[in-house]
Amino acid sequence: MTKRQLKPDGFPDLRAMAKHKPCLLRLPEICNGNPKTTRGAHCRVAMIAGGAQKPTDFAIIWCCSDCADVTDAYHLRPVWMSTAHPEQLMLHGLCRTLCEVGKVLGV
Ligand SMILES: [Zn+2]
Repeated sequence: MTKRQLKPDGFPDLRAMAKHKPCLLRLPEICNGNPKTTRGAHCRVAMIAGGAQKPTDFAIIWCCSDCADVTDAYHLRPVWMSTAHPEQLMLHGLCRTLCEVGKVLGV
């Protein structure tokens, strides 16, 4: 882990760590699969996001730009996502991200 991937308080900067990583949300028909566009997107599921509530950075999914856009804007979600349990897709992406963060941190 580089110094740039640590916040001033010493905690890992999960957003910075996302740079150039593979997309871990992998939304079908949406994901562009380009690691150069990967950034940290907050997992938007009920009880941790909504309205003015912003999730903690521990709820970040490493997403390509296209997957991240869809998680941030409900109006961009394709019709199939309304019946495909978007929360389940995001929680899978969050679990994959936490596993990768654990590998980087060696925990
Ligand atoms: Zn993607």
